[in-house]
Amino acid sequence: MTTPILNKKCPICGKQAVLEYQPFCSKKCADIDLGRWLKGTYVVHTNEAPDDAEEAAHLTKSDTDSD
Ligand SMILES: [Zn+2]
Repeated sequence: MTTPILNKKCPICGKQAVLEYQPFCSKKCADIDLGRWLKGTYVVHTNEAPDDAEEAAHLTKSDTDSD
């Protein structure tokens, strides 16, 4: 049985995304994205969730402080 694919591209490498790891193409790319979050270097701009934006700003601040 083949893995179901999605009609969109992986934001990491640009390959076709699969259902299991959406919006990514594989666990590898999902892990890469997760790693960016953990390092606090992955900044998402959104107008929908002020709480998340506040949290992201905090992460960015602590990141610049340590490096
Ligand atoms: Zn990918």
